[in-house]
Amino acid sequence: MVNELLINLVNSVLGSGKRTARGNQAHSCPYCNHHKPKLEINFSQNKKGYNPWHCWVCDKKGTRISTLFKKVKASTEKFDELYKLIGNEQEYTQNPTDKKILRLPKEIKYFSDITMSDIEGRRALSYLKNRGITKEDIIKYNLGYCTSGRYQNMIIIPSYDEKGHLNYFTGRSFEDKPYIKYRNPETSRNIIPFELFINWNLPLVLCEGPFDAIAIKRNAIPLLGKNLQQNLLMKIVKSTVEKIYIALDSDARKQALKFAEKFMDEGKEVYLVELEGKDPSEMGFNYFTNLIQKTLPLSQYDLMEKKLQLI
Ligand SMILES: [Zn+2]
Repeated sequence: MVNELLINLVNSVLGSGKRTARGNQAHSCPYCNHHKPKLEINFSQNKKGYNPWHCWVCDKKGTRISTLFKKVKASTEKFDELYKLIGNEQEYTQNPTDKKILRLPKEIKYFSDITMSDIEGRRALSYLKNRGITKEDIIKYNLGYCTSGRYQNMIIIPSYDEKGHLNYFTGRSFEDKPYIKYRNPETSRNIIPFELFINWNLPLVLCEGPFDAIAIKRNAIPLLGKNLQQNLLMKIVKSTVEKIYIALDSDARKQALKFAEKFMDEGKEVYLVELEGKDPSEMGFNYFTNLIQKTLPLSQYDLMEKKLQLI
């Protein structure tokens, strides 16, 4: 399987290459600078996620594209893109500016590369279909899946910051009766989930899981749990967002009221969406949109009343 995104990226860093046999591509060699494209890179991913390369003139060889990127002093952005596409040995890797960056699991596969014989991949795809995730969603959110490694049989849902850099990801099992439903990287959750897709001038929806946010479609931030992390809280408070919809499970009512109070104190208009025991991802976009339109802003009196109900 040849990763076209990876080929495009390498072309943009090393200059356009020429396709040769078996998913290989020939580039000009940054080591000997021979005038003909004599550096051959293997783009068909092998089990270890390596892309072996070899120059037929100077005999320089390696297994990783990152080595070539270092040789030509590729920009941080190019390295980030590379790690997003193929990963590296560890979740964290030092990039040339010595800044720690998060990367997607190295075993990640993309639905665009799926084949008829990829049974696990097809199961992953049907899981997404059953959850109402469309092809457009898959592309928009850059969803992938793993069939091996730490995130085996999980959908990978990346989260990107406003600049498009990966800031978190979630693994969600696509098995019928999973032993572990969710698995997260060992990194801070104190980020702005799905920040790339947020318009801070429009009403915001706070929900629990990434699939909820995808189902809501517009301006939704998953809390990745029931708590509101400090960075997200500050970002919302400081933003010009006026209306905030809180769509959390009824078992998170106490937290929801706490956030509501905080936002109201900051002059925001808060809407508490009554989910009636269903997740937004279960009810779907249309139903949820109707629910949101029916919801009235929370008054100080409502807030007090709802707090009293919890006692
Ligand atoms: Zn060479």
